[in-house]
Amino acid sequence: MGIPLIQKLLVGSYVVRQRLAGRKRYPLVLMLEPLFRCNLACAGCGKIDYPDPILHQNMAVADALGAVDECGAPVVSIAGGEPLLHKNLPEIVEGIIARGKFVYLCTNALLMEKKLHQYKPSSYFTWSVHLDGDKEMHDHSVCQPGTYDRAVSAIAAAKKRGFRVNINCTLFNTAQADQVAAFFDTAMAMGIDGITVSPGYAYERAPDQQHFLNRDRTKNLFRDIFRRGQGGKKWAFSQSSLFLDFLAGNQSYHCTPWGNPTRTIFGWQRPCYLLGEGYAKTFKELMEETDWDSYGTGNYEKCADCMVHSGYEASAVEHTMQNPLKALGVALRGVRTDGEMVPDLSLEGQRPADYVFSQHVAEKLEEIRQSSPRREPVAAK
Ligand code: SF4
Repeated sequence: MGIPLIQKLLVGSYVVRQRLAGRKRYPLVLMLEPLFRCNLACAGCGKIDYPDPILHQNMAVADALGAVDECGAPVVSIAGGEPLLHKNLPEIVEGIIARGKFVYLCTNALLMEKKLHQYKPSSYFTWSVHLDGDKEMHDHSVCQPGTYDRAVSAIAAAKKRGFRVNINCTLFNTAQADQVAAFFDTAMAMGIDGITVSPGYAYERAPDQQHFLNRDRTKNLFRDIFRRGQGGKKWAFSQSSLFLDFLAGNQSYHCTPWGNPTRTIFGWQRPCYLLGEGYAKTFKELMEETDWDSYGTGNYEKCADCMVHSGYEASAVEHTMQNPLKALGVALRGVRTDGEMVPDLSLEGQRPADYVFSQHVAEKLEEIRQSSPRREPVAAK
């Protein structure tokens, strides 16, 4: 099963409580990035392009657990950078699980086998292994031969020890439906528990800007893939049926960036996991003082092609709560892969892109400089 039953029940009851309390905006998944450092340098990554003093920052355990408490989301996805490079990660994971939250630990798996013994199998803990396709696709995507084989070996070792293991798969415009469908078959045969799939977001700082999908290509690609797997029913996706329907052009959603709030070493990131346009000091400040209407597809140029789960899964969950029978119908019948697509959001009124990255980096570097202990000049003897 893509999502454990206990998680479905607890997250479902959390959403019902938020709705009964009349909350218009509430978080579903906290995206926790305890560091930006990585042991890969993927061409499509827009997360690791920082000066060394920033890459060497590790979020303190107290700050990580404080973010979990402040936010209150029932699910925590730990990303980065490569989280397994953080030496206190086992303590962070244990602390989150002790709070009754579900942890998804995203990793490129290069260190996973070596560190498996530091974690305990639990229905509250899932390894989310980065695999962007078969050996050819994945090694090309992460720019390092041999990475696929190491990830597959780590998956087998983790399954042998009784862990839940998902794969997270990002697709670019080089993806071929036949190859992706065959890869999903292979992944299921490895005994994985679920698949998270998403089109790549066009990070402005990613080294390779040529291979991101636009919305039309995304929808057609997902139709072509789902068609090869009974409307997607053949594979255990760990995403809602309506989000998959959205990827195939059968639903039109406005983005819900507050559904996956993001905490990094910079603070609470505005507006979402994908864009760093500013930082709030507290979760409350993020929720109350972000100008949410100035983001999302149709509102902002940088959001034009985004169909990523961190922006739209929460929109699909909200739609599911309003139309449970519709969601159930898609889950039972599979995603529709032919016929008209729903009209997409208009881009006519979107505001142009702001480029603010270097300002945040300069501010953080100054903060690090000021907080580092000063070295006193050594007196000559
Ligand atoms: S559409 Fe939403 S999730 Fe996507 S980049 Fe824009 S604000 Fe972020």
